[in-house]
Amino acid sequence: MDLLIATTNAGKLAEIAAALKDFPVRILSLRDFPDAPKVIEDGATYEENALKKARTLAAFSGVPALADDSGLEVDALGGVPGIYSARYSGEDADDARNNRKLLDQLAGLPEARRGARFVCVLALSAPQAERLFRAECPGRIGFEPRGANGFGYDPLFFYPPLGRTFGELEREAKSRVSHRGLALQKLRAALPMLPVFAKRP
Ligand code: IMP
Repeated sequence: MDLLIATTNAGKLAEIAAALKDFPVRILSLRDFPDAPKVIEDGATYEENALKKARTLAAFSGVPALADDSGLEVDALGGVPGIYSARYSGEDADDARNNRKLLDQLAGLPEARRGARFVCVLALSAPQAERLFRAECPGRIGFEPRGANGFGYDPLFFYPPLGRTFGELEREAKSRVSHRGLALQKLRAALPMLPVFAKRP
């Protein structure tokens, strides 16, 4: 069975592919569909955006598609940047600029007021099956980037139970506790039950 991972984000793709590597599915990426349409993420929620990406790419490719919409919600900023996390510092945003802007916005705030959470929604679109899997991971925003692993806001996201930022964790360690890792665990539990993926006798 094929499964298209409908993301242009290399960090997400690596985490999703690693989590499904011992699963009986062949992972395809957008590299296998160079003419795939670019999906405009204009939904008001992670769920809307994830479903739009999964549906569009499944319809285009004819292959069941899995999409991820995720973001970072910072308490002191009222949940911002949230669904706008990728573009926090503008249309030409990149990870370094986003991280710098976040640190600037929180300048002067003490540790106790730097609470945040990562949110991930995975959407699966397959014939006769559409499913959403949501998970969150609480932590707080550090005072400077730490660690070079992962992507996005990982070097700023301090995870208290492990005393490290996500940027300091190996991929597997991050996946055991992260928003995406937890959503993927839910997906893994549900996949064998879906008609399109169920083992044939
Ligand atoms: P989108 O889901 O493509 O709209 O973008 C999600 C954005 O949220 C990413 O570009 C990152 O900036 C941020 N993000 C989501 N998940 C993670 C993560 O696991 N680590 C760091 N940043 C993340």
